Amino acid sequence: MTAVMRLPPLPTLREIIRLYGLRAEKHLSQNFLMDLKLTNKFVKQAGKLEGHHVCEVGPGPGAITRSILQAGVQNLVVVEKDKRFKESLQMLAEASNGTLSVVLDDILRFQFENHFPKEILREWQDDCPNLHLIGNLPFNVSTPLIMQWLEAVSNRTGPFSFGRTRMLLTFQKEVAERLVAPANDVQRSRPSIMAQYLCSVKHCYDIPGAACVPKPKVDIGVVHLVPLKQPLINLPFKLVDKVVRSVFHFRQKYCRRGVEILFPAGRDDLVAEMFQVTVIDPTTKPYNLTMDDFKSLCWAYHDICERIPGLIDYDYR
Ligand code: SAM
Repeated sequence: MTAVMRLPPLPTLREIIRLYGLRAEKHLSQNFLMDLKLTNKFVKQAGKLEGHHVCEVGPGPGAITRSILQAGVQNLVVVEKDKRFKESLQMLAEASNGTLSVVLDDILRFQFENHFPKEILREWQDDCPNLHLIGNLPFNVSTPLIMQWLEAVSNRTGPFSFGRTRMLLTFQKEVAERLVAPANDVQRSRPSIMAQYLCSVKHCYDIPGAACVPKPKVDIGVVHLVPLKQPLINLPFKLVDKVVRSVFHFRQKYCRRGVEILFPAGRDDLVAEMFQVTVIDPTTKPYNLTMDDFKSLCWAYHDICERIPGLIDYDYR
């Protein structure tokens, strides 16, 4: 039996929006989910939440927040940048009997360590901790945020200092498709490699843009990410990112072109070494490279960087 939380009667989301004058700000890409059936379905993708800790990013007027509370969580911290939502979220906090706390902050600067108890920490090789990151953020925030969080997964810092914290996030549908794209897929790109070498990634389903107020131009992809016990490439995030970014820099060209920009002009010997060591055909297109290929390229680059001081900091731009 699930111990769902029953919230006391509350104004509907439409009433809240009217009551507090919470018009969605177009320039902040705010689109609100209004239907609790939809937010319940979204929150279910996170798995069991009963008794768990959750950080919700960008709660806005609080539709997803209500669904998370109703799932019977032990503790919910919402991080909202727009101070206009303070009162409506505070009202929800009062109705939650101390389960919900509201932080007005930018998620890109938020310090997780201070908001969740040490007792929920799990060793990396252990099961995932009872801590989840959940959010429907503007698309222009969710993409830099996932890169920031992937780096934190690699370094086991921030929300991942508690262990393999799970993430349930929304993205522009096309970005969701990129995050899960396998080799040879038209959507295969930098986010595919960066997400998949560190996490198991699932594109759960899409929410039609029409379900939001106001309606965004594109549909929304719901993505669940679980950090892997062993990253598929066991090297520093910055090095992997540099290699992956360079290779995809010339997406439609042979991968050799991207590998070239890892080195100063005239070092064809090092470019040749990369392909000799990895046994990768330099005429392969970037999106045809497998995760094993990227692993080999990253290790080959790492070994050359070990030999040539300062190369890791070389930036062809
Ligand atoms: N989660 C709500 C929903 O689904 O109806 C609101 C979604 S709206 C697309 C995104 C929300 O994220 C807005 O409330 C916005 O103010 C908030 N937001 C935007 N950037 C943020 C940031 N850097 N940190 C925290 N919240 C942010």
